[in-house]
Amino acid sequence: MTAGGAGPPVRVTGVTTLPDRRLLLVHAHPDDESIGTGATMAHYAAAGAHVTLVTCTLGEEGEIHVPELAGLAAAEADQLGGYRIAELASACAALGVTDHRFLGGAGRYRDSGMMGMATNDHPRAFWRAGLDAAAGHLLQVIREVRPQVVITYDPNGFYGHPDHIQAHRVAMRGVELAAAEGIAPAKVYWTAMPRSVLDAGLEAFSESSDNPFAGISDVAELPFGTPDAQIAARIDATDQHAAKEAAMRAHATQIPANSWLYSIAGNFGAEFMGVEYFTLAVGEKGPGNGPYGWEDDLFAGVSPDAADRAPVAAAGLR
Ligand SMILES: [Zn+2]
Repeated sequence: MTAGGAGPPVRVTGVTTLPDRRLLLVHAHPDDESIGTGATMAHYAAAGAHVTLVTCTLGEEGEIHVPELAGLAAAEADQLGGYRIAELASACAALGVTDHRFLGGAGRYRDSGMMGMATNDHPRAFWRAGLDAAAGHLLQVIREVRPQVVITYDPNGFYGHPDHIQAHRVAMRGVELAAAEGIAPAKVYWTAMPRSVLDAGLEAFSESSDNPFAGISDVAELPFGTPDAQIAARIDATDQHAAKEAAMRAHATQIPANSWLYSIAGNFGAEFMGVEYFTLAVGEKGPGNGPYGWEDDLFAGVSPDAADRAPVAAAGLR
């Protein structure tokens, strides 16, 4: 027996009702979405959830790994940011994500570069952005999409990059502003990497010529790594590993085609690319499994109508 399969969905002219499950991700630069959360995004998009990606900068200060595009660099033509808009569009297409925005519009905030660099002081550097102004742009997206679940970074921005730290602050402030309006998301997650996974990687790659952990003898030396007991969710999207890899390859200026990320993926199969982990910063953990009760669904324990009403968005979502 099938239910509901008959006929096309009813469509009201000019108005689109979003799906019941809505996920919002706040990332710093184009490529962060794919490297950090690409499998999760593809997983929920494929499952019919509405996935909204907000990217805070254009990544103007990134390195350029495509030799013929070297002239786009910030110190040269300063055209990398515009180019990366197209890379990000391709990545989103690979992930099946159709709703993507730049915080405050493309080019509002500039990539701040690594901590301590002169680029931190650029007038448009995201690092210098007024918190409430930047969070206000995010609040507009939250009002429109009404996500139940938000994903961003931890207070250290996962690894200490100023734009990642700022993305964390803006996301958390945006959620606070939404709560003040009674439209708080039910849950906020931070990206995380369990210590046990890092330990296994350290062990597995110690003999590899392509060892991403070269020079490191203990995972405690890394700027990230979360005790397994503090992990809240393990999203197994191994069936989306190819989508994630395709999305990463769309960011060709940033990730060399011979990157260890791909060689590891080749050696270790779908799990390296397809499994992503999160800590829960806001909200109540839903039912989970395993020794630490890890959720296998970010919407676990969230009722589909956690937002008091289904949001109605004006047509024109990109
Ligand atoms: Zn980044």
